[in-house]
Amino acid sequence: MSNNEIKENTIICVNCPRGCRVRVKSQDGEITDITGHQCDMGIDYAKEEFKNPTRILPTTVRVKNGRLDLVPVKTAKPIPKNKIGAAMQELAGILVEAPVSRGDVITENIADTGIEVVATRSIAKNSKNNDLN
Ligand code: SF4
Repeated sequence: MSNNEIKENTIICVNCPRGCRVRVKSQDGEITDITGHQCDMGIDYAKEEFKNPTRILPTTVRVKNGRLDLVPVKTAKPIPKNKIGAAMQELAGILVEAPVSRGDVITENIADTGIEVVATRSIAKNSKNNDLN
């Protein structure tokens, strides 16, 4: 049953540094009006974000034998927002062996999205047991 309520969401377009606040009006899950964009890319972005919101996921993964115990990582591309919980759970179970280099692929298909998770900094091997100087 429809309640005919008109909803308005504001979506920040991330396609360029202007960051337009694009307003999307909808009724019964269908877009009825888009305003606030300064170019057509904002329309496409708002439509996609309305239908299938996605985010880059930045987080950390545990490191074994590293100078730090955690390495910062992020998804190589935005993933659907509804996959973020599953992705966090999957990453919580991963332990990578040092050394880790920035850009290393930590996992290739996070939460069955087909998207890689990559390290965003390098973590050297902990040589404290071998190097006493
Ligand atoms: S709508 Fe166009 S001008 Fe505005 S942030 Fe998006 S790409 Fe940039």
